[in-house]
Amino acid sequence: MLNFDSPLSSLHKIGTESAKKFAKLGLKTVGDLLFYIPFRYDDFSIRREIGALKIGETANVVGTIDLIQNRRSRQRRLQITEALLRDESGFLKLIWFNQGFLTRNLKVGDQISVAGLIESNNGTPQMTAPDYEKISSTETLNTSGLVPHYLSTAKLTQKQIRQAVNQALPLAKKISDWVPVEIRKRLNLLDLKNALCYIHRPASEAEISASRQRLAFSDLFLRQLKSQTIKNELGQLKTSPIPFQKEATQNFVAKLPFKLTDHQRQAAWEIIGDLEKTQPMSRLLEGDVGSGKTVVAAIAFLNVILAGRQGVIMAPTEVLAAQHYQTFSKLFKNQNFKVALLTANYQKANFTITPKLADKKEKQILREEADLIIGTQALIQPGVSFPRLGLAVVDEQHRFGVNQRHQILGREENWAPHFLSMTATPIPRSLALTIYSDLDLSIITQQPAARQKIKTFLVDNKQRIKMEEHLKKEMDAGHQIFVICPLVENSDKLEVKSAKDEYRRLQEEVFPKYKVGLLHGRLKAKDKEDVLMKFANQKLDILVSTSVIEVGIDFPNATVIVIEGADRFGLAQLHQFRGRVGRGQAAASCFLLPSKENIKNPKTLERLTIMTKTDNGLKLAEKDLELRGSGDLFGQLQSGFKDWHLTTIFNLSFLKAAKDEATRLIKSDPNLIRYPQIKARLGEWEKNLHLE
Ligand code: ADP
Ligand code: MG
Repeated sequence: MLNFDSPLSSLHKIGTESAKKFAKLGLKTVGDLLFYIPFRYDDFSIRREIGALKIGETANVVGTIDLIQNRRSRQRRLQITEALLRDESGFLKLIWFNQGFLTRNLKVGDQISVAGLIESNNGTPQMTAPDYEKISSTETLNTSGLVPHYLSTAKLTQKQIRQAVNQALPLAKKISDWVPVEIRKRLNLLDLKNALCYIHRPASEAEISASRQRLAFSDLFLRQLKSQTIKNELGQLKTSPIPFQKEATQNFVAKLPFKLTDHQRQAAWEIIGDLEKTQPMSRLLEGDVGSGKTVVAAIAFLNVILAGRQGVIMAPTEVLAAQHYQTFSKLFKNQNFKVALLTANYQKANFTITPKLADKKEKQILREEADLIIGTQALIQPGVSFPRLGLAVVDEQHRFGVNQRHQILGREENWAPHFLSMTATPIPRSLALTIYSDLDLSIITQQPAARQKIKTFLVDNKQRIKMEEHLKKEMDAGHQIFVICPLVENSDKLEVKSAKDEYRRLQEEVFPKYKVGLLHGRLKAKDKEDVLMKFANQKLDILVSTSVIEVGIDFPNATVIVIEGADRFGLAQLHQFRGRVGRGQAAASCFLLPSKENIKNPKTLERLTIMTKTDNGLKLAEKDLELRGSGDLFGQLQSGFKDWHLTTIFNLSFLKAAKDEATRLIKSDPNLIRYPQIKARLGEWEKNLHLE
């Protein structure tokens, strides 16, 4: 008997070899398959007799093979398989290239189902490389109706995945839904059983969107439950109040080489107000790239340190941490504060001599004696604690999951330090309040001094050469270039540039005389840091990267950013990428290249054109929210969202609904005593999040 925990090899047609391939996709049990959500569908729901086929439509045809043979093309380079499919109304020609093995699978007299685009061969209909399957006693999984496509990078075909999922599907009926029925009723959500059945075998578009809604809700709801639980707990914690040091703060501000903007003042004021309380601050400081968040944090740290407590700031990368170390050392040079840098590969301090790598004991000394400690994730490892912690700041926090955010608090029984989280992701206030319901919000929307405008261009394929000439000129002038790609590796079905391919193409074909580097999320942390360091030290001319680059590092020498597959990113994220350049004196530019499939899509072009016209991040984010819903932003903000393709359907009211339901539930039953199933799910979800 199959159950949810049965290994995949217990399924028909899956041996240990293909089980290994499935494991690469994270699929180990039959239950995993049920929750492997398709990211798109082919619409083969039009079923036609051959005589009634219309050129240009996508259709499904069932018939008998009358003839099938292989031949070589004239140049002998291509092997062509030709077949003639017959039904009662006529004949249809089918062609495949370089798939000679087909003549072994398909024989004259076989009944098959094919699906694809109907093309014209001098007026008679024909199909090129159609999806096909033999008609046997089993149903057609691949060529009729709405046919699911799954992410696959492990040399598994869509057919294999569909086959496996189909075998798992009967189990879906045994799932009991952990979302209470009254919530499902209120929000008009499908039962989990049905959602899983429909998502894999939909009968209509409406079924697809209803199931997506239901499946996405699971994750949103869990996140909101977590946030609400944290908020509840925070409300009961105490902290050490930090008295406002008026004179010292005024002195510090007066000595800055610039005048604070009104928004910086306002944000600093809100933070100081929080610090004075006995309940720990839990605040998000949001401000566009370059809006000057660092100095606001410095004002908070000044007060904290003068009160005899420690400050900690956690950055997502070592490079950024090192930059912060320099900035804060400079900002506090008149204060006599002890500042330390503490990452896996770099340790520095301005109050004691540290060897390049401190040993355990020396690190402990840094942690005990420093007034301000700057570091990366290494800071929140278990067992790391700071004896006088007053304020913990997390920079570019959207890189961190909910759990990490709260781990840095190093919380004791009833006590926690003040907590400030900073992000350059422009999140409209309404969305931020919904997603981060456990945080208060300060937003800086002013930019300091007139910042350089980054010239932004939408580039079609014809203009690519011209763009590459421009890149060359920039590099010859000693400047550096970012190239962003949406994917790490080529995926068979998505026509999107991958970072690895683009890296190879640029280095080998386009710019062999220049130095190109590659950065992506699958590199080891150390290798990532090495590449970033090399780029920062100008040992690379071009850095090809996936979206991992969007954190607040300063590369003043980078003047151009090229974004491939720009349509795959939200406007807010594009804006973040763009903020990577234009941080030095020289003029900067940004090139947006839509992916092949959308290069002529008017909606895509219109959306991307907005980028060329406005440089206000928050406006762009609001526009995005309006055009595409909150999905893109959401995916960016909440790490660990497994099914990113589900996020594209989110809108604000849906997020709000999840929040309201979670708030209601936690209010009525803070420890989920009446909801053991939810409690179990929440635990499981947290565990998975933790593993990522
Ligand atoms: P971000 O908000 O992206 O972290 P930073 O804090 O790194 O921005 O600030 C970007 C740059 O702007 C820094 O060089 C900083 O010294 C400078 N800066 C900050 N505030 C002001 C201001 N009010 N006027 C002029 N320059 C400022
Ligand atoms: Mg910053």
